[in-house]
Amino acid sequence: MSLSANTKLPRDALQTIWRGFRGYCPTCGEGRLFKAFLKVNDHCPACGEELHHHRADDFPAYLVIVIVGHIVVPMALSAETAFHPAYWVHWLLWLPLTLGLTLGLIQPVKGAVVAMQWYLGMHGFELAKKARVLAAARNPAAS
Ligand SMILES: [Zn+2]
Repeated sequence: MSLSANTKLPRDALQTIWRGFRGYCPTCGEGRLFKAFLKVNDHCPACGEELHHHRADDFPAYLVIVIVGHIVVPMALSAETAFHPAYWVHWLLWLPLTLGLTLGLIQPVKGAVVAMQWYLGMHGFELAKKARVLAAARNPAAS
């Protein structure tokens, strides 16, 4: 894999994770990270970076449970304490909110996890990063 001369490598971890959160390749920030809702592309369509090394597994789902739980549970408890609504009101409020937040956050959080793994060189990303550095050292004009 060789990156083109105008590939904009991320300057830090925050930019890398932000690229992943928005669903873009952590390497170039231009190619789409996902080929389906939660299916990561094997390679970046823009720069060719190998993305199949990620091992996000259940970590994005775990993070989404933590995030959504910290939003919905305090709201539900506050509503119950202040207004004592009927159970059907709770179902009507918190079920759609929980489903919406979960479905809205799972892809961005998975993208952020994959980007974090890329930045940290976890799994096979480290070898790809070393190969890129070696290729740049051998041919400085191409990197
Ligand atoms: Zn890319």
